[in-house]
Amino acid sequence: MRAVIVGGGIGGLATARGLALRGWDATVLERQPRLEAAGAGLSLWPNALRALDWLGIGDRVRAAGAPITGGGLRTWRGAWLSRVSVAGPIVVHRADLHEILADGVRVRTGTAVTDVRDLDADLIVGADGIGSAVRAQYAPRVRIRDSGQVSWRAVVPDPGIKGGGETVGPGGVRFGHIGMGRRGVYWYAVAPAPLRTTSPDEQLAELRRLFHGWHEPIPALVAATEPAALLHHPLLDLHPVAPMRFGDRVALVGDAAHAMTPNLGQGACQALEDAVTLAALADADVAGALREYDMIRRKRVTMVVRRSWQVGRVMGARGALTGALVRTAARLAPSGATSRAAERTAAWEPPTPAPGA
Ligand SMILES: Cc1cc2nc3c(=O)[nH]c(=O)nc-3n(C[C@H](O)[C@H](O)[C@H](O)COP(=O)(O)OP(=O)(O)OC[C@H]3O[C@@H](n4cnc5c(N)ncnc54)[C@H](O)[C@@H]3O)c2cc1C
Repeated sequence: MRAVIVGGGIGGLATARGLALRGWDATVLERQPRLEAAGAGLSLWPNALRALDWLGIGDRVRAAGAPITGGGLRTWRGAWLSRVSVAGPIVVHRADLHEILADGVRVRTGTAVTDVRDLDADLIVGADGIGSAVRAQYAPRVRIRDSGQVSWRAVVPDPGIKGGGETVGPGGVRFGHIGMGRRGVYWYAVAPAPLRTTSPDEQLAELRRLFHGWHEPIPALVAATEPAALLHHPLLDLHPVAPMRFGDRVALVGDAAHAMTPNLGQGACQALEDAVTLAALADADVAGALREYDMIRRKRVTMVVRRSWQVGRVMGARGALTGALVRTAARLAPSGATSRAAERTAAWEPPTPAPGA
């Protein structure tokens, strides 16, 4: 059986790996001339690690990343609002995850798919991200929703910082950092603001002003950031979540179906769940497998997208965080990893044992 996967991001590469493990002849078509992942840190929760174990690469990814052992929520002055010790999630550099996923996968780069009808395969998987051409062909009404918030991210080479956490400040601005071991420290900042068109140098100057007076290591991390390392994006999601199969041979995985705001650190984790679920179900009855895939996955990702959006609304509220809001934020945010919400999301198990297990 032949599968063509459109898009060589985390979702597409994981799907190709999973299908190959199930005996499929899988090829990834990637529009970029080279397969490479720019990016910063990614938190991977136990659900994602179980998906990676199913794909046979969990230990390699764990070795490339660093465990997240503790964190919590602080005020910009440094007072703790909630403090948690966690067991299970890791943080990994996106480039490292991408490289491990791509190892041994057949990828044709420089191939942008514009019409799915041109593809000849038993199964076609749209893994082409939030602006998916595959989704646009079948579900043109699904719209990209702008949260009105933007993010900045970077990795700073300081292997000395361990642990991390999130800090909330005035005006719905927040900052998070996580030590990634040999890869340094991953930090992110979120603000309710329009996307900047200024240069990275100018944006860093703005961030130095914005985070002046916040507790350490925040000003130090911003000061140590190279302009070339700064990433700046709007925080978007898909509303509503797209159907995850079309007809008898087309499926969507990852952001193509359910891009979400990053407030729960679950976008890539859900793409990995999709990939493993689809691979586990895919057999000679492709149409039946796709029906089941859509039924299982759409309900779950709709919940995660919605919860992520809600966390963003609470955390990005422009007024001062009231006591009630802080309690809600601490309960909902990923830094409150012991909360039932985070535990429920991370409790996912693959639908079948790993191939060969
Ligand atoms: C600020 C921020 C922080 C985040 N933090 C986390 C986190 O901590 N943890 C987490 O789990 N998730 C996080 N995410 C979400 C995560 O990055 C995404 O959910 C994930 O990368 C989606 O992977 P994907 O493979 O579905 O899509 P993408 O990564 O977008 O990959 C799509 C691929 O398809 C290719 N492509 C596009 N169109 C075509 C075409 N027509 N033909 C061929 N190829 C095409 C693209 O070039 C790309 O390689 C974060 C996101 C943001 C914005």
